[in-house]
Amino acid sequence: MSETYDVDLFVIGGGSGGVRAARIAAGHGARVTLAEEYRVGGTCVIRGCVPKKLMVYAGRFRDEFEDAKGFGWTLDTPRFDWGVLKHGRDAEVARLEGIYDANLTRAGVAVVPQRAVIEDAHTVRLVGSGERVRARVILVAVGAHPVKEPAIPGANLAITSNEVFALESLPERILVVGGGYIAVEFAGVFASLGSRTTLLHRGDRLLRGFDDEIRDALGDAYARRMTLRLGRTVHKLERGDGAVVATLDDGGTITADQVLMATGRRPNVAGLGLDRVGIETDAAGAIPVDAYSQTVVPSIYAVGDVTNRANLTPIAIREGHAFADTVFGGKPACVDHRLIPTAVFSTPEIGVVGHNEDVARATFGRIDVYKARFRPMKATLSGRDETILMKVLVDCATDRVVGVHVFGHDAGEIIQAVGIAVTMGATKADFDRTIAVHPTASEELVTLRVPAVTKHSVAAG
Ligand code: FAD
Ligand code: NDP
Repeated sequence: MSETYDVDLFVIGGGSGGVRAARIAAGHGARVTLAEEYRVGGTCVIRGCVPKKLMVYAGRFRDEFEDAKGFGWTLDTPRFDWGVLKHGRDAEVARLEGIYDANLTRAGVAVVPQRAVIEDAHTVRLVGSGERVRARVILVAVGAHPVKEPAIPGANLAITSNEVFALESLPERILVVGGGYIAVEFAGVFASLGSRTTLLHRGDRLLRGFDDEIRDALGDAYARRMTLRLGRTVHKLERGDGAVVATLDDGGTITADQVLMATGRRPNVAGLGLDRVGIETDAAGAIPVDAYSQTVVPSIYAVGDVTNRANLTPIAIREGHAFADTVFGGKPACVDHRLIPTAVFSTPEIGVVGHNEDVARATFGRIDVYKARFRPMKATLSGRDETILMKVLVDCATDRVVGVHVFGHDAGEIIQAVGIAVTMGATKADFDRTIAVHPTASEELVTLRVPAVTKHSVAAG
């Protein structure tokens, strides 16, 4: 069959999902071409997870410097140099981009540095050269882009997470709009690095969808680190005195050197040619797919953020891998999206696996909630006003742990390990028979003996 096509697989998009799919498919013997219109590595490597986490690390030194005093250290007043951080971060991103590129080439994937669009069910057109490539299978892995919502007057004066990485200096004052992962993470970064930071969100709590007590704990911690404005929206942005003036719904104003709008992301489907093959996007602009990432057109698949299933790098990678195994490896595989460990790299951090308390109660009826709220040992000498919160939710009928929530230092690292147990179906009894590692914060997870509350859903009585 492959004789009638130029390639077996054409991947549009060289991000987390596309790169993994291309490499695995090539490993299965497929002839693969991948087109990338910007930089290989995609959002995560170039302007997402990686450069963001490096900035998170940079910000956290502030706490370390302050905490050190209580342990006997005397430090000169630390000074932060944005240029050093930017230079190092950009060099690391470029290094990773090179590795991604080299890995594709080593796997036998032809990489085309151009935009590609769909012409028909088996044809892709390279926009730069005009060349047409016939492919047995097309994989759409084009990701998403940030949007400024709502479309307010002066929105062009605001930046998004894309432009954050191009800033040439640390803003003295920054207004961050939004209450999701990106707003929370960047507000934390800028506050730690020394910007006078305002985080403004339309809701009454940050991070909709997360456990309410974790959201409250984050709100308390952030209110101590920055100005938190909840239940407010921005009506317009104007330039004034070299700064940006934001007018709020209550008529108040906030003046800042930068305004970062982190109000969500939309799939990159504009002009992609989906209409030419009869693929209709859903209300969020995403490409609908089945469990095997196949679209309504049998020869066209889609993975990652463009499908808006769970917009996280490990999910895009898993979907790309499963696609390649299914279509080119003779091993049908699909990704289970039900149990996804995740972390928010706020300071303090959040780590979650499984349901939040409300959803757990609605799903299982009777749940036990085990809870520990305590001051970390380090804070005893540092004097930092900080609380760790851990919650373990247990389905009373089966004793299975159906949710673990951690708020505090290293929560992401903790939840990755706990995620293994929860994915395996661990029960509370399994947690209980696990020997504690002492002295750690996470030992609390295996020493929780008495439920804080036993709740019943209305439905389950
Ligand atoms: P992408 O990685 O976006 O790749 C799509 C690629 O397709 C891009 O390189 C784009 O240039 C290219 N492209 C688009 N259209 C075309 C076309 N027509 N032709 C050729 N090329 C095209 N997730 C986590 O798990 N942990 C985190 O800590 C985390 N932090 C994040 C921080 C930020 C600021 C952002 C924005 C996202 C973060 N994410 C994080 C989410 C994560 O980056 C995405 O879920 C992931 O990158 C999605 O991978 P993807 O392959 O679907 O798309
Ligand atoms: P999110 O969808 O997480 O958050 C968007 C935020 O913008 C929400 O607080 C939302 O409010 C608010 N918002 C949306 N529309 C409007 C509007 N019209 N007016 C005012 N506020 C509005 O998107 P992000 O951009 O933060 O992140 C995108 C995705 O990227 C995340 O969902 C996540 O999947 C991924 N990501 C993962 C990270 C990680 O793993 N650590 C880090 C960064 C991103 P409301 O809640 O009220 O709807």
